[in-house]
Amino acid sequence: MVDRVDRFDRKDFPQVFIYGPQGDEQGAAEDLARKLADLDITAPLVVKSTFGEALGARIKTPLPHVVPVPQANQEWAATLGSRTRRSGADAIIAIGGGRCLDVAKLAAARAGVTVVAVPTQLSHDGICSPVAVVPAQGACGESIGAIAPRMVYLSIPTLLSSPLEAVRAGLGDLVANPLALRDWALAADRGLESIDRRAWDLSVESFDSIEGYLAADVAESAGDARFLMRLADGLVLSGMAMVCAGNSRPASGGEHEISHAIDHLFGGRALHGAQVAFGCLISTELYGGDTQGFRARLAQLGLPQHPSDLSLSEDDMVKILLAAPYMRPGRFTVLEDTDLDEGGCRALLERIWD
Ligand SMILES: [Zn+2]
Repeated sequence: MVDRVDRFDRKDFPQVFIYGPQGDEQGAAEDLARKLADLDITAPLVVKSTFGEALGARIKTPLPHVVPVPQANQEWAATLGSRTRRSGADAIIAIGGGRCLDVAKLAAARAGVTVVAVPTQLSHDGICSPVAVVPAQGACGESIGAIAPRMVYLSIPTLLSSPLEAVRAGLGDLVANPLALRDWALAADRGLESIDRRAWDLSVESFDSIEGYLAADVAESAGDARFLMRLADGLVLSGMAMVCAGNSRPASGGEHEISHAIDHLFGGRALHGAQVAFGCLISTELYGGDTQGFRARLAQLGLPQHPSDLSLSEDDMVKILLAAPYMRPGRFTVLEDTDLDEGGCRALLERIWD
């Protein structure tokens, strides 16, 4: 019943286990506890959200489990890191959504212990990446270099009951990959970066794993274990691409800068993957692609395809477009290449949405 994804035999890649599709969450909880024992993890600090309750129930540890506060930020993660170290924990096991996994990665980096990621939803490709998106105090999400998990454990019975919005966002994060690669190639063309071929191929493979589902009904797909395994595979591969490249380049270009600008200026209007998918419209248009076809695809996937879907006005969009190139200094994408001024922004918006 347990599939080992053992294509990734490099020691710097996380070990990935997928439990299911047969079996139930209790079986997954027992299996997860066994896997941790196999790794000689005997005194982990378990950090779990309420969705992770059942999966974490069988883990043996002398330490009490920790539930992240809803607004867990970098400071919270740092405190968790020193607490981990003082308690003598030999690993952090994070069971929950994106924020839970991200603060755990950061805390583990601080404590100098390994981290095991057990996502309870498939909403973005940070699952096994070395990057954590955690807000600083009083601010919004910031990508920080942390450590990649030593092991990623995916329980299909758990994921089958995750929110539909998360599934849509997971697909949204992956539709960005071809554009992120195009941006990477553009930067390489300008002599600013070199392409890591293996990372590139992993990112391509990641998109390929879900491409066949982009025309399907997401609500139906979300209840299909085979689809969830493909989505999990895609998100894991995308994370591996980033591990391989040593940064987020293979999966993050101009469309991610747009999403970061939305977070920065407006505090986030949707899940990361949903905002990223929306950002793809800008890159697609700037590359002269089939923007209206892309819009139709997003609409069909239930992802934002118009600024109004994110409660953004035309003026808001201009601010976002002007701010986006400043979100990630040093990353050259089609946005930096186009170097839009206000008039250019308005003309672009008109081309896409009028
Ligand atoms: Zn992303």
